Amino acid sequence: MISFNKFYQLIAQNRLSSWLNVLPAQLTTWQKSELHGEFAHWEKTLDALPNTTPSSIDLSNSVTIGEESDINNGEFKRIENLLKKFKPWRKGPYHIHGLHVDTEWRSDFKWDRLAPHISDLSNRYVLDIGCGSGYHLWRMRGAGAKFVVGIDPTQLFFMQFNAVKHFAQDDNVHLLPLGVEDLPELKAFDTVFAMGVLYHRRSPIDFLYQLKAQLVKGGELVLETLVVDGDINTVLVPGERYAKMRNVWFLPSCDAMVAWMERCGFKNIKVVNTDVTALDEQRKTDWIDTESLEDFLDPNDPTKTIEGYPAPKRAIFIART
Ligand code: SAH
Repeated sequence: MISFNKFYQLIAQNRLSSWLNVLPAQLTTWQKSELHGEFAHWEKTLDALPNTTPSSIDLSNSVTIGEESDINNGEFKRIENLLKKFKPWRKGPYHIHGLHVDTEWRSDFKWDRLAPHISDLSNRYVLDIGCGSGYHLWRMRGAGAKFVVGIDPTQLFFMQFNAVKHFAQDDNVHLLPLGVEDLPELKAFDTVFAMGVLYHRRSPIDFLYQLKAQLVKGGELVLETLVVDGDINTVLVPGERYAKMRNVWFLPSCDAMVAWMERCGFKNIKVVNTDVTALDEQRKTDWIDTESLEDFLDPNDPTKTIEGYPAPKRAIFIART
């Protein structure tokens, strides 16, 4: 059974304690709601994971938990079979006792693009909104963060996170199955990350205010989103699908995005990186059974999506409150 009691106990003692006014009721409602049809199976899979003692953990250069020599062959096979039940694995990669969970995305590439530009995470309270399976949560902890919280409403990703956490056993890294709209105004995090989420929101300005409401005064926002080329007045609102995704709403130019952030009261806004997503960053592996970037692009012109829009280009913005 998934329990959030440990999280409640921890935040009762730290600066997130006001969250206790709403969080337990929300998560109890979530637990009583109609969960994913596979949820009960996923819980059994989690319970079946062998208990291990990792001889080493690296979260600074990768997410590597334990060595192959810490476990026997049977345990290795068991971990592999059980983790494969959580397919599709989108964000990663993870290395667990020598098992390479080769996810669809090389999320480490995104981390490498942003890491040189962010404030030192040492001793900071950090929130990652829309964190997927939580790959970056581990890297934030590896970069020294004191207390790391991710939120993501996709239940499969929550289970994947719990599978990784089963091996990493770190009381300062947490994922809650919530959407950004469920957050009260906490004003408690030193750094808030929101990567790959803005274009899924129907109201990007409201989203920016929701992010701001989580930050302490002088805190840092790290926002990554899809952008298009153009001037301050350029925003693409694609038709029903963009790169085969149904839920894509606003793709601003970098200048338009900066203007939106300014309008919402963010300061010192910088675009620190832009990058056209390459085929080695998002690709089909043994850990997904679905299509990937190659299938989302025009086979005759990879600078275009299959629908004829500009191919995915991402930018990283850093700002202060
Ligand atoms: N931040 C990660 C994952 C981005 S994928 C990265 O940059 O690699 C986008 C994520 O947003 C998905 O995991 C999806 O479940 C999540 N998401 C969707 N709706 C959301 C909402 N309302 N609030 C927070 N996250 C949401």
